[in-house]
Amino acid sequence: MGKVLKCRDVGVDCDFEAHGQDEAEILRKAAEHAKGCHTGVQLTPALQAKIRAAIKDEGGSCCGGTCH
Ligand SMILES: [Zn+2]
Repeated sequence: MGKVLKCRDVGVDCDFEAHGQDEAEILRKAAEHAKGCHTGVQLTPALQAKIRAAIKDEGGSCCGGTCH
């Protein structure tokens, strides 16, 4: 089952969602997205902790992940 991080869950007014197989992939995609979309945001240890806390398992409510 994959994982998903929504910018909104980190407290940013943005509809971006990072999908990945694990935390590392999500963090990499989030960092790439932040570079282009949230310039000025520093990926500090505190922010990384917030991001980790906001990462959720994907597909829990619809299909258990099989349709993604
Ligand atoms: Zn964003």
